[in-house]
Amino acid sequence: MIKGGYFFSILDVDLTSGESNVVPLDEKVAYDYIGGRGFGARFVADLVKNSRKRIDPLGPENILVIAPGPLSGLYIPAAGKNSFVTLSPATGIYGDSSMGGVFGVELRQAGYDAVIIRGRAPELSALAIDDGRINIIPLPEARGKTTLETEQIVRQATGDEDMKIASIGVAGENCAVFSCVNTDWSRNAGRIGIGAVMGSKNLKAVAVRGSKDLPVHDLDALMDVSREGYEHIASHELFSFWQDQGLMSVVDYANTMGILPTYNFQQTVFERADKMNGYIMEDRYKIGDSACFGCSMSCGNICLVKEGKYRGTVTEGPEYESAAMLGSNLGASNFAYILKANALCDEVGLDTISSGGIIGALMEGQEKGVISADDLDGKTLNWGDEDGILEIISKIANREGVGDTLAGGSRAILARWPQLTGILCQVKGLEQSAYDSRAAISMALGYGTSDIGAHHTRAWTVARELENGENWSLQDKADLVIYHQNVRPLFDMFGVCRLPWIELGFPEDYYRRFYAAVTGVERTMEDLLACSSHIYDLTRSINVNLGISRKDDYPPARTFEDPVPSGPTKGSVVSREEYEKILDIYYEKRGWSAEGEPPISL
Ligand code: SF4
Repeated sequence: MIKGGYFFSILDVDLTSGESNVVPLDEKVAYDYIGGRGFGARFVADLVKNSRKRIDPLGPENILVIAPGPLSGLYIPAAGKNSFVTLSPATGIYGDSSMGGVFGVELRQAGYDAVIIRGRAPELSALAIDDGRINIIPLPEARGKTTLETEQIVRQATGDEDMKIASIGVAGENCAVFSCVNTDWSRNAGRIGIGAVMGSKNLKAVAVRGSKDLPVHDLDALMDVSREGYEHIASHELFSFWQDQGLMSVVDYANTMGILPTYNFQQTVFERADKMNGYIMEDRYKIGDSACFGCSMSCGNICLVKEGKYRGTVTEGPEYESAAMLGSNLGASNFAYILKANALCDEVGLDTISSGGIIGALMEGQEKGVISADDLDGKTLNWGDEDGILEIISKIANREGVGDTLAGGSRAILARWPQLTGILCQVKGLEQSAYDSRAAISMALGYGTSDIGAHHTRAWTVARELENGENWSLQDKADLVIYHQNVRPLFDMFGVCRLPWIELGFPEDYYRRFYAAVTGVERTMEDLLACSSHIYDLTRSINVNLGISRKDDYPPARTFEDPVPSGPTKGSVVSREEYEKILDIYYEKRGWSAEGEPPISL
């Protein structure tokens, strides 16, 4: 029996009718799906299973699940995460994203294990959750406002300065399919278009206020294991380096290893990487740290541009992925510009990885003459064209001119310009993350088989394979991908950040111990991993139901066709024959059919 960790309450809000209900959370669902992404996957699976027709991700029938986890908001390292789960307008299939900050913590304190939002509000609105008081507040004055401005408007409208707010920018209002939801200035749930789903529901913001104590079975035991955990993290030799640079430290690593996206993934080493790395950020731009709830690692870098064209730009970040995709991938190395582009994406609410992937493809497409200036409203986009990049980002957010097509993401772009097929790096309609996979077939397999498209957080295996995998068999590499795909959902299900585990080797067994102290349920790591493996089968089952099969499980064409031209990974390319073999092995190990069907149905 579960003795802590849950309120056993799900808030269900229908924006169309304005009604809300609190429905009980079944204990078996709590046990089997744990929380966060697990709950979201279950509720989205139920939606797909019970629907007689195909659900339009931007229709009122789609749901948005907001779910922290049973560990969120407790005295546990980096326990400030919260999942957003829905059907993605970028891919048309299952999608989720996790967001840090304190929003999810406040939602837990309001007494809910998850919120399900359905329907469409009659006008632009905010959903305000203040413990048991639920209000849908018309917010027409927020139309066109940035995420930061929206937070102020919501605070005025609710009369509560301490509300924790997740909001969308103009890109979300306009249903750009790679728009984000933003909180705490620059913490985003990105990639798969959660901002667009909110926009389609006329939901500009969700604001929460909670006053409840979080249920913990054995607080003394939790304090003991958490104290040990915080000390473990602080004693790591890279702890202070991590605080100094956060994910920006990856720029040098990726460049040295030959996996840095450069000139739209054509190259993997950027000749000016030293102009946009973590040291440049630290020396010239960083003015402070920031952290999500309860995190001693504080990976957020608050940066200010003090001089030049972008003087006065202040932003938290960028992370490595943003710097790489808006920087080297577009042939741009001016770090002040990267900060400006990152800040602009945050303000309008656009995903930086997808923005960089799409603009890079346009640049290469023009360079190779397969699209013209006429295709881009008379504009020629050259590598490193800072003004051009910033202009295109604004056009996408506002759906101006060609931005209307680009806001539809890879699927809309390829429908209009099929000649970009070999140039636009995407899987299942989601643009590829900032790690080249041509020298690491496991990473290519991770991108290909990811349930949300080409996103690195599903199976970030590239470093392990490049550093240790010289003598690995395809079986070993498929095992590595499956292990990552199984262990990584656990973090989102618990409501914690995975970065202590990734970057500082924080042992995963700690999470089993946290879970036991909070819930009073002793489970083995194998048992917990079986839950997350089931979630992977479940999301696959959703996707198969929506038409996904083996044909969709391949990395971008470039991975097979264009050998890396120079650098440490020079000559690398994934062989199609090898990929077919590893895909067969992967399916067999997962217990999926040769066409990629999992053994469970919805
Ligand atoms: S490591 Fe970074 S992203 Fe993760 S919880 Fe800490 S501050 Fe947030």
